[in-house]
Formats: sequence, C-alpha cells, structure tokens
Amino acid sequence: MKRILLLTTGGTIASRLTDEGLAPGLDGAALSHYLGGLPDSYDLTVQDILHLDSSNIQPEEWRLIAQNVYAARNDFDGIVVSHGTDTMAYTASMLSYMVRNIPVPVVLTGAQLPIEHPLTDGLDNLRTAFAMASSGHPGVFLAFDRRVMLGCRAVKTHTTAFGAFDSVNWPLVAQVSGAGLNIREEAIPGGSGPCVLRDKLCEAVFLIKLTPGLDPEIFDMLLRMHYRGVVIEAFGAGGLHFIRRNLIEKLHAAAQAGMAVVVCSQCLYESSNFSLYQAGQKALAEGVIQGYDMTTEAAVTKLMWALGQTDCLEEVRALFSQSLAGERSV
Ligand code: ASP
Repeated sequence: MKRILLLTTGGTIASRLTDEGLAPGLDGAALSHYLGGLPDSYDLTVQDILHLDSSNIQPEEWRLIAQNVYAARNDFDGIVVSHGTDTMAYTASMLSYMVRNIPVPVVLTGAQLPIEHPLTDGLDNLRTAFAMASSGHPGVFLAFDRRVMLGCRAVKTHTTAFGAFDSVNWPLVAQVSGAGLNIREEAIPGGSGPCVLRDKLCEAVFLIKLTPGLDPEIFDMLLRMHYRGVVIEAFGAGGLHFIRRNLIEKLHAAAQAGMAVVVCSQCLYESSNFSLYQAGQKALAEGVIQGYDMTTEAAVTKLMWALGQTDCLEEVRALFSQSLAGERSV
C-alpha cells in the first residue's frame, strides 16, 4: 500500500455552518471519518496544520505548508494537501517554486461543498488526489472534478461549479475515466537537481489590472510604499496607454528605482507578446519582464519568490526567462 500523507489546512471541504456562515470546523480525524473505504486502499497518515478559510492563507501559511511538505518528502510516497479553493491556485504555484524538484507527488485539493454535505464533491476530489499522490509522478499538482492539473497552471474559474479550476495554457496532467487515472506523462515537466526548500519570499509585490485611463501615479504611490515588484495585467497581447496618461514614463521611473515589473495579459488564455505593438515595445524598452503564457497567480507568486531569492534585477529576469516548474512555455 502506498504511504500517503494528508495535510489539512481548512477550506470548504472541512467547513461547517456557523452563525457567521461556513467556517472550517472539521479537523483531519473528523475529515477521515467521511472518507468511507478510502483509507483501506492507502497507508494513510493525517496531520492538521491549519484550520483556515483559504482567504486567510498568506505568505506565512505558504511557508508553513512548504516546510511540512518538504519535511515529509522522504517518508511518504505522496502528499495530499486539503485546502480552500479560493486561493488554492496561488498556494499551488508558490509551492511549485518553494519545493521545486520535490521527489514525490504533492496534490492540492478541496471541495465546493463541505464533506458533511450529502452532495459533497470532496470525496471524489480526495479520491482523485490520492490516486495522483500514489502515481509515482513527482511535482506539485491540483486535483479537482476528476481532473489533475499542474499546480502552477491552475486557475479558479468558477465560484460554485464542481469544475472550479481550469488548466490554463497547459494540457491536463491526468483525468479519471472508466479506465482509471489516465496520466499524460508528456504534460509533467521533469525536474532536475536536488529538492531544496527555498521558502524565502518578498511580500512587497503588487498586482495591477489595467483599466482604460488608469492614473499612472499609482506607480509613485507603490514606490513610496516600498513595493519591490509589480505584475501588470496589460490589455490583450501587450498594450498599455501612453497618451495623456503616460504609463511608459512611470515604467522608466520604476526601473530607475530598482522595481521589478512583470507584464502579462489580462486575457486568461494564450501568451502575451509585447513585441507585437508599439505600446508593448515601448514597455520592453523600459526593461519590463515578459510573463508570456504564465497565469497571473503563477506570475505574482514567482515574482514574490524570485525577489526573496535575490536583490539583483538581472537575476530576477533570468529566473523569469526559465520555466522552473512548468509555469511558462519556453
Ligand atoms: N472560502 C473557501 C476557501 O477558500 C472556499 C472553498 O474552499 O471552496 O477556503
């Protein structure tokens, strides 16, 4: 039997109705009670590490989860992390960087309905996660609605549908069918090198979603607040305004001040390409880093992580030019 560690962190899957709405109330032991015959198929160990709605999962919690995953990597065949769905894509991306080259599968999952609910999707999601965790394919994944995706490509796209996540710009890693868990090996990037816990990060990273006419002075404010990195979700393939309200001159000021600026598209699918239009080329001339086909979640967490590893902007740029865990196509 495969040795599986279930780390619980809260989320809807472990929630109960309280006077203030749903809140995480079930610990791992209570959760296990609802797993039916599942524990008979695995050598299961359950550890509670957090009891939070995932909107309260922040950099401190990312570190704690990464540390627990890293500490367990040699004692188990796979690790499942139960987690709220709201910020699961951020945690999955951040873990992809913090425990890069982890030698076992690490699979995040959760549910749209609490495990105690008669119609819960939690049990199915855990089943898929356990199957992936015992697959022998290392990496950080997210399992939901009988599908498994690369953690750093997952985005929450639905608030209530059971298929709450999409794998953006990357094929699914696995899918459950009548034939069992069909794994697509070519969708799993091979790691290279030893697994080292790198959990230092810089929290001073801001995300700007451009709106037509956005006041460029937002950059002055961010510099005054000592932000060290900004991710800009620009228009389409790579547009930002420079007539009347000149964002380009603020990019110049940001670069002079040593701020790392990463540019992505606010389109969910396909890659940005800032070389295509004049506006994008002007931005590139100011030294912005292209995010290409990365999700916003993967870009924001990668920038936080990269700035935690180095103060040197050229090194940050070099990290963004590589795919560390499959987060961008190279
Ligand atoms: N608010 C919940 C959370 O993210 C939603 C969920 O788990 O589905 O913790």
